[in-house]
Amino acid sequence: MKFEGKTLRVVTNESGIATLTLDLKDSSVNKFGAQALAELADVVTQLEQGSTVRGLIISSAKDAFVVGADITEFMGWFQLDDEQLTQKLKQTHDIFTKLSNLPIPSVVAINGLALGGGFELCLACDYRVMADSAKVGLPETQLGIYPGWGGTVRLPRLIGVDNACEWICGGQQKRSDDAMKDGAVDAVVAADQVVASAEHLMQQILDGKLDYQARRNALQQPMQFSPIEKMMIFETVRAVVGAKAGKHYPAPMEAIKSVEKGIFQSIDKAVDTEIKGFVKMAKSPVARSLVGLFLNDQHVKKVASGYTKNTERVTHAAVLGAGIMGGGVAYQSASKGTPIVMKDIRQDALELGMNEASKLFGKQVERGKLTTDKAMQGLGKITPVLTYGEVENVDLVVEAVVENPKIKQSVLADTESHLRDDAILASNTSTISINLLAQALKRPENFCGMHFFNPVHRMPLVEVIRGEKTSDATIAKTVAYAQALGKTPIVVNDCPGFLVNRVLFPYFAGFSALLRDGADYQAVDKVMERFGWPMGPAYLLDVVGIDTAYHADQVMAEGFPDRMGHDGENAIDRFFSLGRFGQKSGSGFYQYEQDRKGKPKKLKSAEAESILQDLSGETKAFEDSDIIARMMIPLCIETARCLEDNIVASAAEADMGLVYGIGFPPYLGGALHYMDEMGLAAFCELADQYQHLGKLYEPTATMRDMAAQQKHYHQ
Ligand code: NAD
Repeated sequence: MKFEGKTLRVVTNESGIATLTLDLKDSSVNKFGAQALAELADVVTQLEQGSTVRGLIISSAKDAFVVGADITEFMGWFQLDDEQLTQKLKQTHDIFTKLSNLPIPSVVAINGLALGGGFELCLACDYRVMADSAKVGLPETQLGIYPGWGGTVRLPRLIGVDNACEWICGGQQKRSDDAMKDGAVDAVVAADQVVASAEHLMQQILDGKLDYQARRNALQQPMQFSPIEKMMIFETVRAVVGAKAGKHYPAPMEAIKSVEKGIFQSIDKAVDTEIKGFVKMAKSPVARSLVGLFLNDQHVKKVASGYTKNTERVTHAAVLGAGIMGGGVAYQSASKGTPIVMKDIRQDALELGMNEASKLFGKQVERGKLTTDKAMQGLGKITPVLTYGEVENVDLVVEAVVENPKIKQSVLADTESHLRDDAILASNTSTISINLLAQALKRPENFCGMHFFNPVHRMPLVEVIRGEKTSDATIAKTVAYAQALGKTPIVVNDCPGFLVNRVLFPYFAGFSALLRDGADYQAVDKVMERFGWPMGPAYLLDVVGIDTAYHADQVMAEGFPDRMGHDGENAIDRFFSLGRFGQKSGSGFYQYEQDRKGKPKKLKSAEAESILQDLSGETKAFEDSDIIARMMIPLCIETARCLEDNIVASAAEADMGLVYGIGFPPYLGGALHYMDEMGLAAFCELADQYQHLGKLYEPTATMRDMAAQQKHYHQ
């Protein structure tokens, strides 16, 4: 048999062994889109109809085996009605079922990443040989769906129910040793041996040394468990998975249901069970949000790559300030291999910064991710200094000193005078306008914002802020540096607060107004955490620092006085004036004590309660929906304004910025997606009920126009 398609080819050798090589044209990876599936169906049908072929080997011509189904086609699927989607899934199942029932044995050579549909193809083969460097897995639940091409049917039969549920619900990529240990593959070999080993295995089957039919039959039977065994397995699995996934992410629990029913059914029936649950998940708003975020992430990465096409990488950097942020940037740069000079004006600050970096490297060693030697080498890439000497020759300097425009302007001007003419200066300011800071500089074209989030090693976003005079070359190199640090850069235009803080402060304003009107801050925290935020607004303010929030609030009020200016003292002002700066000072909205591991433990604070009561008078109970609306409306409207004002270039970048920068609940897909799902008309109607709270609650004219025309932010 011979086949030459656009996504795969088949050649048959003189011994009758056909090798199907997956090789999607004009792409660096293999993925299963409509074309690949059609060609696969064609080949499998030909093999099924009988030929001289005696065995089938499946391999890949790319570095990755198959990265999964083509996710860009998912949104189209989600728009199909239940029946159409069911039929579509059945078509793919037919291919995989035919493959698993071929009159000849099949062996797959997994040379690299095999994910989702790519791994489900492997599961439909009789034997799996895996490269030691490859990874396999079923990540679908991370997209709000679950494996829909036989993963919930074949994996439990192959590796057992507990393992399969862990693979499916965890969605992780499994290394070859784990895959071998769990029984998901039959052999692990060096990457350059994977095809040869698959051929060797095929020869053993053809020589009758391995009985593929017996193995196939065993794996196609319903599984056998007593009712007690079944109950024990699934009760445990459900408890573990349910606690981890949480109520906003239903796909893992739905996957367990499919496994639980399917293992006792014939393969055909189990496939129907899988399809039914899959359709339910695919039609859920969570799936639309999470797939939307995946596509947004791809867009953001593509935009970033566009910037960095012709730029050189930063080989040596510096950071000014060894505080929370400066220390974090130094660690991140060193751990990703770019040497960095860390300058402060205080020796004790440098020591603190080095200690923090050392602790973070230590954690990597504890987790087995780094050897002690590598950690020492990493730490050695940070040079702590008190003078400019070592800074003079670097390519890029991140300024991370205190959030005060005058101090920043003077530090930036001073630093510029010590730098090479082509060196870049980037400020990590949270809110201060880049154009304002640039006024102090002789080479404003070499200056931009580079806004990291706290804690730097964990938060994926970096906002790169373009000032009026910033050059393209400066943006390109700063974006490249952010990528080299393993971050996701988003380029935004200048304004107070840029994108993320401009949107976050209206949310805090919503919170302050709730407190003013007598809401209990702990109740608000609970409601917003249940709604999906990683922490409620009071706790978040304590973590950010009430002092930082106070200063930023002033900048925002000055920048947008009509919406963000406020008369009278709010909770942030009061706590600031009392020196209750949050976690860093031991008290804010909450009281903090160190736990046994030295981490701050959050406790109720009677003092904070009485301070707030003094500010607002009587406490008042609010409905959850009221709290959510009062918090979310200002944030959503300000996000829309950022898009209208061209602070951010696209809805995809805006939503991704909020998810990566402030942990906006991913199941809602970002502020703009959230409004799209609600419908802009319904959103405006809701906002209109809160007009008495001020301009932050007033939808823009463009929003109202879009609502009238039933338009969406995301197409
Ligand atoms: P911090 O107070 O922890 O650290 C500031 C450091 O700068 C101190 O160690 C101080 O000694 C040093 N410093 C002051 N003047 C200096 C000078 N002339 N040269 C060198 N060092 C000098 O502050 P931070 O929280 O790390 O914030 C730094 C910047 O990062 C601010 O602009 C802040 O708005 C921004 N930022 C903070 C966060 C956050 O969550 N903390 C998040 C994003 C951005």
